[in-house]
Amino acid sequence: MSQLAAGDRRDPAAAPVGLDALIARDPAHPALPEALRRSAERHAHLCPRQVLGARLALAGAAALGIPLPQADKRLLAVVESDGCFSDGVAVTANCWVGRRTMRVEDYGRVAVTLVDTHGGAAVRCRPQLDVRTRVGAWAADAAALAAGGRDTGRGMAPTSAAGDIAADAVAPRWAAYVLGYQRMPDDELVDVLPVTLTIDPAAIISHPDRRAVCAVCGEEVSNGREVVGPAGTSCAACADPAGAYYRPRERGPSNHNA
Ligand SMILES: [Zn+2]
Ligand SMILES: [Zn+2]
Repeated sequence: MSQLAAGDRRDPAAAPVGLDALIARDPAHPALPEALRRSAERHAHLCPRQVLGARLALAGAAALGIPLPQADKRLLAVVESDGCFSDGVAVTANCWVGRRTMRVEDYGRVAVTLVDTHGGAAVRCRPQLDVRTRVGAWAADAAALAAGGRDTGRGMAPTSAAGDIAADAVAPRWAAYVLGYQRMPDDELVDVLPVTLTIDPAAIISHPDRRAVCAVCGEEVSNGREVVGPAGTSCAACADPAGAYYRPRERGPSNHNA
C-alpha cells in the first residue's frame, strides 16, 4: 500500500463513517477524545493531522510539566504549519493566535515547539520519522472501519449544514492514521527534542499595549514590531520593502514610498 504524503485522504465513494467511529475508545492519553471532539467541531472534520497536533501538544506539555489545556498564557506554541495540524494543537493546548499564545513559523512541517514562558524551557515535538510504517499495528480495526474504501481522494468527516458531524466515507490507510495516532504510546509516536530558542520568548510575546507610528507609511505598529533604522522608526515592511510579503501596485498614502 502506498504511503500518502499528507496522511489526510479518503475515498469519497467508500462506506460512511461518523465521528464516533473515528474516536478511539482506548487512546494513549485520557484527554484525547474530548480534545478531538472539540477540534472536529471547530474544524468541521476530524483528520490525522488534528490527531497529531493533539498528541504532540500533550507530549510536549507533559515534558515541560504543564497541564493541558492551559488556563492562562504560560505556554506558547510555535507551530511549523497552519491548517488541520495547528487546530489540533490549539484546541488541546488552549494556545491561539488570537490570544497571542500561538505563532505560525510556516516551514510546512508537522511539528510544534512548546515554550514555557515562565523560565523559557522549550521542546520541539514531531512525529517519529517512520511512524507511518508502524501505525498500522495500532489500528487493526481500520480496514473494517473503512469497509472497502480505497486510498484516494481527500479525507475528512465533515460537518453537516446543521453543524453536526455527518457520516462520511474513509479509506483504510486514512482510518489507520486517525485511529493509530490516538493509540500509539508517546515513545513510539513522538520525538520530544529539547531546543534553545534563537529568539527571546519575551521578544516574541513583546508588549501588547505598545504602539508606534511608521514614519514611512504612517500606519500604526503594535506589539513592539517597529524597526528603528536610518529612516527612523518604521514598520517592518517599510524598513525592508524587498523582504516584505507584498508589493504595492500603486503609490498612495498607505503604500511604501520606497
Ligand atoms: Zn484536516
Ligand atoms: Zn510603514
